[in-house]
Amino acid sequence: MSQARPADLPAAAPRRARLVAIGERRWVWAVAILALTLAAFLLALRAGHDQVRMAARQRLVIAEAVLRAAVDRYRYLPAVLALDMQVQGLLADPGARDAAAAVNAKFEAIARASGIAAIYLMDAKGLTLSASNWNQPLSFVGTSYAYRPYFLDALATGASRYFGIGTTTQQPGLFIGQAVDARGGGVAGVVVVKVDLEGLEGEWRRAGEQILVSDAAGIVFLASEPGWKYRPFRPLAVPETDRIRAARQYGDSDLRPLLADGPPDPGGTIRLPSAGEAGSGIVEPVAMPDLGWTLWYVAPTGAALRQAVLVAAATGVAGLALAFALAAASQKRQRLRAEQTMRLALERRVAERTHDLSDANARLRAEMAERERTTAALRATQDELIHAGRLAALGQISTAINHEINQPLAALRTFLASTALFLERGDQATVRRNLQRMTEVTQRIAEIIRHLKDFARKTGPEHREPVRLAAAAEAALDLLRVRLRAEDVTVDCRIPPDAVVRAEPVRLEQVLLNLMVNALDAMRDAPERRLGLSATRETSGGRSPSWRLDVADSGSGIPPEHLGQIFDPFFTTKPAGEGLGLGLSLSSLIVRDLGGSLTAGNGACGAVLTLVLPAAEA
Ligand code: ADP
Repeated sequence: MSQARPADLPAAAPRRARLVAIGERRWVWAVAILALTLAAFLLALRAGHDQVRMAARQRLVIAEAVLRAAVDRYRYLPAVLALDMQVQGLLADPGARDAAAAVNAKFEAIARASGIAAIYLMDAKGLTLSASNWNQPLSFVGTSYAYRPYFLDALATGASRYFGIGTTTQQPGLFIGQAVDARGGGVAGVVVVKVDLEGLEGEWRRAGEQILVSDAAGIVFLASEPGWKYRPFRPLAVPETDRIRAARQYGDSDLRPLLADGPPDPGGTIRLPSAGEAGSGIVEPVAMPDLGWTLWYVAPTGAALRQAVLVAAATGVAGLALAFALAAASQKRQRLRAEQTMRLALERRVAERTHDLSDANARLRAEMAERERTTAALRATQDELIHAGRLAALGQISTAINHEINQPLAALRTFLASTALFLERGDQATVRRNLQRMTEVTQRIAEIIRHLKDFARKTGPEHREPVRLAAAAEAALDLLRVRLRAEDVTVDCRIPPDAVVRAEPVRLEQVLLNLMVNALDAMRDAPERRLGLSATRETSGGRSPSWRLDVADSGSGIPPEHLGQIFDPFFTTKPAGEGLGLGLSLSSLIVRDLGGSLTAGNGACGAVLTLVLPAAEA
């Protein structure tokens, strides 16, 4: 057997067993899967944020370009208007007839054509002389904007740009101012173009983008979310607040800060006050130094977060699947190991059983040999017994035989004496008859002696030959002739001449003699003594043919309670000295030896002993 036992596995086994043992601890698995899931989440989140950041920067570039385009579109218009003769004429002579109306009409036409919120002209003191909205309820005409930074800056520097809420209209806008030179030198007034940038906010909102624009003070003035507008990123210092309020830059706005500690560094995350998901995400700023503005792009990170959660979930599921697969593999390994152990145990048991069986086999063979020896010994003993039984029968009948032989001898003597007498008388006929009678007598004696010799002879087991049943019965009857006559027994012999059986003649005669002696014994006290012998051929049951010989007597019969015992050795009902109880047991043995059977029963009167022997085909 070449299979290794678990204990004989190579040195790698303990390490593997340790790994398996670790794998079997569920909490180790749980911690490992948790750590893996967390790592996957963090990595995915970081990758997602990087992507968002990159996209934010790209969007920022576009948003800046759009804003700059909106701002720059009308950048040259105030300068062009400042050179306009009518404008200059109005400033030179504000009271001239129709001058204001002409400029009003011009401003109105330009504003309508270009989509500009308002165009207006102030004199050097800030009083509005003409405006594109001259004919509207909230017309600027007649209003002084001397305090507005865009007026003051234009006066001081020649040009200005300023974002603020209009004090008249309350509409926010980009005010672009340009000083109009006086014909005699100096500044005659300021022409202002107010550009409405709120259209941009609408575009941002529609595009779902979160964009804010803050001024130099950090106050948001343009935003995709209205709630963020006119609020500084961080709390403002008091003087700054006062300055903005005084200039009415952002109207009546309370300037509540958006965040407690200012905007984060570029690329950081921000959370602006807002309902829902808007306002939080990664923030990327870009400065517009010429305007003093900063554009902020806030990219939402919700999608990145969701993706990271998905990746983490997938990793967790994969980890669980792996854990289950490993657990299943470990269980399978354990099962296989258990099966192997069982198989080994089974094989060991089978080997033990085989060993036991071969032991038992050897014992059986020894017992069989012993039994054969015993059987041989028994057979020898049986043969001895049969022989002894035969001698005993001989002893029993010796008296009768004496008588049988003495009688012919006496007759012979008488014949001899009378023959001598008849010879002297010359009666030859009588002499011849006597001689004939004497020859018969000697033949008779010779026959009796031959039977006795045969009977007493010890024979070997394998001596079967075809035997005529009638001859065997006749031989037995011959031995009993004297007794039959003395006891006046009628013999009725009906054995057909073709009744031939396979047997040992002498043994068969011994059996028949036994049966006949028993019959005579049984009929000793019977009023009528009749011995019947009848033979019939039997071929029934597909068996090989046999002859059945019934030996019936007119005796007392066999009591039913004895029927089961009469074949037992030493069972006898005869007085001591008369029977040994061996006759029937020996006879039955002999018959069985010859391949036949011997049974006993009762007939109409007396017993019937039935002998069946295999037929010998002639
Ligand atoms: P034994 O003749 O020495 O008694 P057997 O074995 O020949 O021994 O017979 C056993 C017994 O069977 C006899 O004692 C007798 O009781 C009974 N028996 C045998 N043959 C007959 C018969 N023909 N009629 C009645 N009884 C018989």
